[in-house]
Amino acid sequence: MTPRLPPLKSRAMAVRDIIILPDKRLRLKSEPVKAVDKPLRALVNDMFETMYAAPGIGLAAIQIGVPRRVVTMDLAKKDEPKQPQVFINPEVTWTSDETATYEEGCLSIPEYYEEVTRPKSVRVKFLDLDLKPQEIEAEGLLATCLQHEIDHTNGVLFIDHISKLKRDMVMKKFKKAAKKTVGAKPLAEDQEPSHHIG
Ligand SMILES: [Zn+2]
Repeated sequence: MTPRLPPLKSRAMAVRDIIILPDKRLRLKSEPVKAVDKPLRALVNDMFETMYAAPGIGLAAIQIGVPRRVVTMDLAKKDEPKQPQVFINPEVTWTSDETATYEEGCLSIPEYYEEVTRPKSVRVKFLDLDLKPQEIEAEGLLATCLQHEIDHTNGVLFIDHISKLKRDMVMKKFKKAAKKTVGAKPLAEDQEPSHHIG
């Protein structure tokens, strides 16, 4: 017997499943966006919904299984108003020689954190939702997050920036977990939001 369903909510957005290691789709190189149409707007809305629900501060479309070059981000702190940002076809055009090390995590590699060294500042060009070209120079958390998410659009994960020994250990752990929990969704309760870059 199917219980009677509650009335449909009027909202159109939906939280989508986040794919996790060792899902091979995480290694796909995403396709550029050519038009901002209704499906793309729906994708962006779903990405925000999914990112906030996780919770995470950044998300690339491939993390919900869509190989398009779209990144959503919100670096606002808990007590601050939301600051949703969308980057379409983002591309790093310049990196500083100076580096910064930040403890990263990823919604697709839950509950694993490791220090990653990347350029401290980057310049990124992208399109906004009106397909207008934009360029920003970022440093700190924004620079780290942009590099992490742009990596996703190229099939690169933050564990590719750590030692092979550590990476092999993580891969082994997640392959083993995937075998044990086929079809099961990862738990979100213990996740530390501030570290889950996306
Ligand atoms: Zn990630």
